[in-house]
Amino acid sequence: MSDRIADIWGRRTPFARDELWPVRVDQKLADGVHEADVERWVHAACTLCSNGCACDIAVKDGRMVGVRGRADDIVNHGRLGPKGLFGSWQGMQGRERLTRPLIRRGGELVETDWDTAMRTIVDRSRGLLEQKGPLTHAFYTSGQLYLEEYYALGIIGKAGLGTPHMDGNTRLCTATAAAAMKESFGSDGQPGTYEDIDSCDAIVLYGHNMAETQTVLWTRVLDRIAGPDRPLVVCVDPRETEVARLADVHLAVHPGTNLALMHGLVRELFVNDWVDEAYVAAHTVGVDELRAAVEPWTPEAVARTCGVDADDVRRAARIIGTSERVLSTVLQGFYQATQATAASCQVNNLHLLRGMIGRPGCGILQMNGQPTAQNNRETGADGDLPAFRNWENPEHVAELAALWGVHVDKIPHWAPPTHAMQIFRYAEQGSVELLWVVATNPAVSMPQSERIRRILAKPELFLVVQDIYLTETARLADVVLPAAGWGEKQGTFTNVNRVVHLADQAVEPPGEARSDLDIFLDYARRMDFRRDDGRPLLEWTGPEDGFRAWQECTRGRLCDYTGMSYERLRGGSGIPWPCNDEHPDGTARLYGDAVFRTGIPEAETYGHDLLTGATVGPTKYSAMRVDGRAILKSAAYTPPHEEPSADYPLRYTTGRTAYQFHTRTRTARASQLQAAAPSAWVEISVKDAEALGVREGDIVSVTSPRGKLIVPARVGQVRVGTVFAPFHYGYWEEDASGPSGAPTAANELTLTEWDPVSKQPFFKVAAVRVEKVREGVAAAPAPTTTASRPADPAAVPATLGGPAAEAEERLYETVPPRAPDQERLGTATPSGASEGSL
Ligand code: SF4
Repeated sequence: MSDRIADIWGRRTPFARDELWPVRVDQKLADGVHEADVERWVHAACTLCSNGCACDIAVKDGRMVGVRGRADDIVNHGRLGPKGLFGSWQGMQGRERLTRPLIRRGGELVETDWDTAMRTIVDRSRGLLEQKGPLTHAFYTSGQLYLEEYYALGIIGKAGLGTPHMDGNTRLCTATAAAAMKESFGSDGQPGTYEDIDSCDAIVLYGHNMAETQTVLWTRVLDRIAGPDRPLVVCVDPRETEVARLADVHLAVHPGTNLALMHGLVRELFVNDWVDEAYVAAHTVGVDELRAAVEPWTPEAVARTCGVDADDVRRAARIIGTSERVLSTVLQGFYQATQATAASCQVNNLHLLRGMIGRPGCGILQMNGQPTAQNNRETGADGDLPAFRNWENPEHVAELAALWGVHVDKIPHWAPPTHAMQIFRYAEQGSVELLWVVATNPAVSMPQSERIRRILAKPELFLVVQDIYLTETARLADVVLPAAGWGEKQGTFTNVNRVVHLADQAVEPPGEARSDLDIFLDYARRMDFRRDDGRPLLEWTGPEDGFRAWQECTRGRLCDYTGMSYERLRGGSGIPWPCNDEHPDGTARLYGDAVFRTGIPEAETYGHDLLTGATVGPTKYSAMRVDGRAILKSAAYTPPHEEPSADYPLRYTTGRTAYQFHTRTRTARASQLQAAAPSAWVEISVKDAEALGVREGDIVSVTSPRGKLIVPARVGQVRVGTVFAPFHYGYWEEDASGPSGAPTAANELTLTEWDPVSKQPFFKVAAVRVEKVREGVAAAPAPTTTASRPADPAAVPATLGGPAAEAEERLYETVPPRAPDQERLGTATPSGASEGSL
């Protein structure tokens, strides 16, 4: 038995290169419930990060009583992490679940019935449509809904209302992943697969604290590292994360300087002749421009800008340039920082220059943060056109118009879709008058919280919030709709490496809560949205109808779902798209044939200038004659707009802890997770702490030009000159919607600025000052296990693994590893297998 709060990644099951990752089934049942008590196990997958671990939900007496990893699934081979084990099912069972609609009367939210709530929304919606048109409407959704729900909303927004103002909180976490893949390969769609961990010789993690953000994926890496031929690890992160601790090279760059580092790494490939010239000549365009862009970035120039050692840059580049099989993963350290798309495209460029894509062990994983972010992007709930269609391609728009039975002009395609930051700007200015927020909490999660709260609270804005709990955002709503959540509804979703899972309904939702799909279909019916032939726009009777409709929408596209069905998805493992007649069992890797989706007929975008965000447009793009080749794109490095100054001398960056998810809507309702990371803190380095006279647990204020936090300090592992704050902690435990006491939300301090291409806001770049407010009476409430561990463990009592965190999960190791593939192992090149060889 293992305490899976203290022991986040569980017991090691080592394996060698090209062996199958051994199965280890993780399980957690409620106190007093034994396996024999479980009445049903219901097919599902975890929705507390983008990893998409398959699981079965234990049901007893009409309640969820536990969870078990699915041994036969290609994603997790039975494993679950702490959030999956404790948070997935307990997070749905908080006492404060919304069970009836609420409506604002006399300034207060009071209970009402569904008919009143929906009639109020529809009356306002109709009135605005008739008086001012569809641009008054905006939707801000989530990375938590199911595919069918997103697609229903995408159709409602585009073919029912005709508004381009649709986006999700995926803008905050995965927009750059999509943008980088579109710019390099012509389309969204993950090139790699988790199986590349099993086959690689080196793993490079760019701004990706995988150990905390995708704990089960990191377990797979740990098991390779524990095996006989461990891959080399390179980590780019300003904090000493668990990844950094195990890395062969740790590049602790200054936040905001990623692109300078990437230029230096790409330059090393050129100067050391580590480029596959034949591949580059046959399958890419833009190599001369790329070579020129990186030329100034010697390792010494990188060292000066990024604050790293020049020899470490050389060592990292050698690993990337000489390893036989390199896997790259990218996440928020790149996506939420300045020049996000340009830096992330350089990761793609490293692989293209080496011809290292579409083969085992040579994956690119442009990661997502949220479980169903991929579906938000695929279906058009983020404003893009569904199934990776291009708003600038009239044929793509015509395909959708034919599919939905509406005129092409109904579908907004005269300009790019409106991104989230612009939607909130329109609401601030008053042109957006109805904002419908679904399964997300912008009052805490969006940058510059005080401004966002002010916008959401505007009396002129009609705010609809659809969620499972009364979040900080819901408290500001005019109408609150109680939603069914995980385990309480049916639907599919797709994880970050394109694997589709079906989640069946395990239990009834509480009270009158309804699935998000039912709510959208009800709205469409009441609004009487119709096709041009007079039939209802959405004739679905349930999620499976929605899935079939989605399959038709994807037919022939890269994300082709036509070979799947609910029945097939229920049979065993999830299936990676494309899955069709040609690939009946799905597709592990894309682009093994070096044919990219950049031709005019299939491209999802004609691209952008990565420095300014200006669109390339069809004429210029056509003249580039890309025609199925990948594009080596780059931009000049520019420093962040907000650099440290005399008033604000420290760099500020935000992120996650392994124990919480987003604004803790679900994870805080799992006592074990909440006990592990109960309230806010900030992390500062030993050196900065000494200079400020701050000791572990002292209360400090952290101030930026936009706001202030007052929280305990963890004297920890962050690099000197940098302050880290977890972004999970808002104010819902208080009575008010904002900081009635000390402000604790990390986004009080962040910037209203975004990447010019992906439009992803910056959460990793700001300037702050730290001041001691008073002596602390205890250690900071930060985990002692992860990147947040104290610099001096002796100064902090171990807070994890105590009685509150006792776990009752059972771990089984049931399937021995298969025999190594001797043929492939025989061809392995022992390149650069140790630092000494560098
Ligand atoms: S790694 Fe992510 S998907 Fe898997 S159990 Fe943990 S939170 Fe859930």
